[in-house]
Amino acid sequence: MFDVIIAGCGPTGAMLAAELRLHDVRVLVLEKETEPVSFVRIVSLHIRSLELMAMRGLLDRILPHGRRRPAAGFFAAIAKPAPKGLDSAYAYLLGIPQPVIVRLLEEHAVQRGAQVRHGCAVVGVEQDDEGVTVELADGEQLRGRYLVGCDGGRSTVRKLVGVGFPGEPARSETLMGEMEVGVPPEEIAARVAEIRETQHRFWLRPFGGGVYSVLVPAAGVSDRAQPPTLEDFRQHLRAVAGTDFGVHSPRWMSRFGDATRLAERYRVGRVLLAGDAAHIHPPIGGQGLNLGVQDAFNLGWKLAAQVRGWAPETLLDTYQAERHPVAADVLDNTRAQTELLSTEPGPQALRRLFTELMDFDEVNRHLIEKIAGTGIRYEVGEGPDLLGRRLRDIDVRQGHLYGLLHRGRGLLLDRTERLTVSGWSDRVDHLADPTAALDVPCVLVRPDGHVVWIGDDQQDLDDHLGRWFGEPTH
Ligand SMILES: Cc1cc2nc3c(=O)[nH]c(=O)nc-3n(C[C@H](O)[C@H](O)[C@H](O)COP(=O)(O)OP(=O)(O)OC[C@H]3O[C@@H](n4cnc5c(N)ncnc54)[C@H](O)[C@@H]3O)c2cc1C
Repeated sequence: MFDVIIAGCGPTGAMLAAELRLHDVRVLVLEKETEPVSFVRIVSLHIRSLELMAMRGLLDRILPHGRRRPAAGFFAAIAKPAPKGLDSAYAYLLGIPQPVIVRLLEEHAVQRGAQVRHGCAVVGVEQDDEGVTVELADGEQLRGRYLVGCDGGRSTVRKLVGVGFPGEPARSETLMGEMEVGVPPEEIAARVAEIRETQHRFWLRPFGGGVYSVLVPAAGVSDRAQPPTLEDFRQHLRAVAGTDFGVHSPRWMSRFGDATRLAERYRVGRVLLAGDAAHIHPPIGGQGLNLGVQDAFNLGWKLAAQVRGWAPETLLDTYQAERHPVAADVLDNTRAQTELLSTEPGPQALRRLFTELMDFDEVNRHLIEKIAGTGIRYEVGEGPDLLGRRLRDIDVRQGHLYGLLHRGRGLLLDRTERLTVSGWSDRVDHLADPTAALDVPCVLVRPDGHVVWIGDDQQDLDDHLGRWFGEPTH
């Protein structure tokens, strides 16, 4: 009997496993594939995800594998400089190959004690009052107290528990790959610049060693189970650019659509959904992986609390209450961005208008923060603007705040030096520091870094400790 079984060892499943292990939860991750994926697309890690990695001491391990870029140019690919005043110690974007970040997160989960089994596809799920029975493709049955489906957009778990996935089917498709070209670089650069004046779903970018990263819209929607061929690339390049640039010797080729869907529910009894299993949308802005990792961060400590027996009754349900609206907002911004990429005259006019508006720092910052995940505010009650938001990494007497959050516990940051977390000290740390760079007396920070209480009154604090961290031990 495991405490939690996770279906799928993509970025969401691996991150969730590591978060659960912080609380000694017995975790088994079942991954269908035996080998890592063959395509090496570069994904963007945005500010909030970088902050989360810093909060768990992972960022230093990840940074050498990625390339830093300014936090700019990712809203509808509108080229604007990074806005001023991005309120983070990690205000940049990190481009990193997806297989590398998945490997690093899986290694991290295993080092923390998670079991990961590859070549194990979940095909059956039955739940009862005590737990969930998971059946594998070879007939083996496993038991867990909870199951989390982190098994991607075509999630078997979501289908098996009968959760609807309403939204829009794919209307268009884009081919993506890496290959060599037969035309001089200057000629490519000139033609690409010309086409990108109006066609923003297109690029040919040098990737090093004579290899180019190619992105080109396809006509219509295909059977996505089949990867595209080199001839498909040539044909669609000719249709868009009037030439196929002599592409040859592909390293990898894939395709993606713009289907946009959101799971009706994130929880059915003892089964939960996270990451692409719960939401899919076009990749514009580079948000899906970030959203999944952030789901895992929100869910991890809550599910651990449930397993360890100290969770207040409604804590686990706050996962859906908090994360469903965040995903709905991401779906909406990708719908809007997709419109702005259209080559039709109306959307092109809107794009020109957005381009002008983004000259206003506040507009630019609002759009970038939406995608970077730093603008999120959970509904945790009435109060100052900081309540419900993430606390940025601030300087404290012992160094910096995120350095104190590696263990995934709650934290009372107390400038008054007279409050206590006694009764909850097995779950919540107390840092008394009058020098902390805060403009409020005290904040209670959850293990996922969000502020759930601001004040200076012990009774009020105790009520909030009870609300988020359960009954005191004495
Ligand atoms: C072209 C493109 C570019 C993108 N760029 C970005 C970007 O820049 N930034 C960003 O944040 N996101 C980006 N994304 C989105 C990102 O790739 C996904 O959102 C992310 O991979 C979702 O992670 P996940 O772990 O939820 O699901 P997945 O990565 O799909 O992982 C699911 C895992 O579950 C396994 N699995 C499936 N079924 C089963 C089963 N029955 N039993 C056991 N295991 C199973 C799969 O093998 C897989 O390993 C991009 C997507 C595309 C298509």
